[in-house]
This record gives sequence, structure tokens and C-alpha cells, in this order.
Amino acid sequence: MLLIRSLLARAPECLLCSGTRVRRSSQVYGPLMGAVFVAVRCQECGRRFPLPRRVARTEVTFYSRIPTHAANKSAVETALRNALLSVPGAWTVEVRPNSKDDRWLVTISRSGGNAIRLSLVPGDAAADEVYEETRAALRKEGLLG
Ligand SMILES: [Zn+2]
Repeated sequence: MLLIRSLLARAPECLLCSGTRVRRSSQVYGPLMGAVFVAVRCQECGRRFPLPRRVARTEVTFYSRIPTHAANKSAVETALRNALLSVPGAWTVEVRPNSKDDRWLVTISRSGGNAIRLSLVPGDAAADEVYEETRAALRKEGLLG
């Protein structure tokens, strides 16, 4: 029953409580099960359950207005993308310069969830810091363990 319901699910959503704060679990299935399913854990009720890989995958749509001449453009974009990899769902990441304070405003969102906002100092935005800052924000939202 659980399997059938998860097969029909369109978005990463908990089968028991319909929570949307679902993350990949450390549990690993055997080769047959693992070919089709990924173990996930609901951050809201704590339940582990299998999700079809197709549903559990992470898709990131990027709208970046980081200028092409910025030396850290691709490193920052890659760090943002990598920080989202263990969180299933269709994410939208938008980076745009804030004319008021010359920082980069990052908005990370997924349908049905709260938007996560970060503000980066353009020249200082080191990839590992952007990654850690994004992970910390995801953790605060309950999207990471
Ligand atoms: Zn749940």
C-alpha cells in the first residue's frame, strides 16, 4: 500500500502526514529495491519510507544574474546547486544583485515551502561558505538532519 501510494505521489511528500520536509535517508536498499526507490525520511513525523527515484530526485532551476565577469560566478552557482542535492524536489534558485547594498540576494524556493533567502557579499562569497550557509538555512527549515 505504501509503495503504491508513493508511486502515485507527484511531489516528495510524506505518505503518513503529508509533510513536505522530506530528505534523503542514510538507509540504503538492496540492488533490486534500490534500482527504483530511494529511502527518505520525513522531518515532520520522523517516518522513513521509500520514494521512487523519479520523485525523490532533485531538480534545480537557476536564474542567476551574477555578472559573467564575476570571478566566483560559477563556483558560487555550483555551491548553491550542490547544497540542494540531498533535498528532493523541484527547486528554483534566483540570484540577483541588490542595488541598495551591492550584495547578491539569493532566493531558494520550492512549491509549497518557505523561501530561503541569503545575502552574499559578491567579492567575498567563497564557494565553501556559500555551501555551508545554504546548508545551515536548509537545516533551519527542517530540510536537513
Ligand atoms: Zn511525515
